[in-house]
Amino acid sequence: MTAQTAELPTAGRQARNAAMEGAAASPAPLVDPFERAISYLRVSVTDRCDFRCVYCMSEDMSFLPKAEVLSLEELDRLCSAFVGLGVRKLRLTGGEPLVRRNIMWLIERLGRHLGTGALDELTLTTNGSQLGRYAEQLAAAGVRRVNVSLDTLDPEKFAAITRWGKLDKVMDGLAAAKAAGLEVKINAVALKGVNDDEIHRLVEWCGEEGFDLTFIEVMPMGDIGTEQRLGQYWPLSMVRAELAKRWTLEESDHRTGGPARYAHCRETGRRIGFITPLTHNFCESCNRVRLTCTGTLYMCLGQEDAADLRAPLRASEEDGPVVEAIREAIGRKPKGHDFVMDRRRKQATSVGRHMSVTGG
Ligand code: SAM
Ligand code: SF4
Repeated sequence: MTAQTAELPTAGRQARNAAMEGAAASPAPLVDPFERAISYLRVSVTDRCDFRCVYCMSEDMSFLPKAEVLSLEELDRLCSAFVGLGVRKLRLTGGEPLVRRNIMWLIERLGRHLGTGALDELTLTTNGSQLGRYAEQLAAAGVRRVNVSLDTLDPEKFAAITRWGKLDKVMDGLAAAKAAGLEVKINAVALKGVNDDEIHRLVEWCGEEGFDLTFIEVMPMGDIGTEQRLGQYWPLSMVRAELAKRWTLEESDHRTGGPARYAHCRETGRRIGFITPLTHNFCESCNRVRLTCTGTLYMCLGQEDAADLRAPLRASEEDGPVVEAIREAIGRKPKGHDFVMDRRRKQATSVGRHMSVTGG
């Protein structure tokens, strides 16, 4: 072993070894300048949504013109190019992925990579409003798990947070997901003064339903038309301390390839995850990049640097130019983000784009 390979993080080293073994058969995998293997692509398939969550969008959002948005065929081509370069996990998100017209066509197409073994997982993050309609088809297409965002179990609070959402419909969607055999993880944004009185109930309810639960810290992304976000910021260290008053949280080394750190809750037997982009640096193990529905690739959720993949994709029917553009972009993946929730300067937006653009 050379001194150089001895210093590689495990993922980078494994990817490199795999590439050496299969050099003749497959192209070199995507490894960034910090030797992190890129194996996880999150794709925002639309910027549109049937909700208007207060921390995510303003009520009068303007959405992208259709011509700028990649067609489903183009999304398939682009995702498949990433799979060809060693991406093993695809997560569709948005906006709300299930409001995109004919979305099942894309999901079924991408499912073919599960069949060949090129992809380990095809999954999505959804607000759950359309799961009643799609859960069975998702399971049939090879989706095994879904993340459903749900911050409260109180119908009135739910209406206030999502502005346009109905809790009943999401509950029906969750029941349909369970009936279809999909594993469900609930994502809840921890909001001081909004759902801080409900976190124990959320843990209990997830235990009853057989769902894992992940708490997310509110992130400074996009102008949402209010100054609320600063006041709602609730560090997950405090959420965890509150949970520990009632639940036994045992350390867990479970990883899903995402940024969450997990604990095992002894009383419910379920996992509780914590995504803490503001209080902890999880960049050193980052294996992800994010694609928007216009074909813009963001190498880091917390940085503005991006690469346009739409132009090379549309310029040629061959994948060569787009593969070259992907490699060039991965070569620029930064070491980490610089989110700040700067209370002194009362500045709550450090990244201009909305979460619905990059999909979280
Ligand atoms: N519409 C889908 C949903 O709500 O699950 C997928 C897209 S949504 C942008 C993905 C995740 O980002 C959701 O769990 C949502 O709660 C979270 N999110 C949105 N804005 C956020 C913010 N400013 N800070 C932290 N999480 C946010
Ligand atoms: Fe829509 Fe998801 Fe954003 Fe809520 S968090 S507005 S459901 S994209």
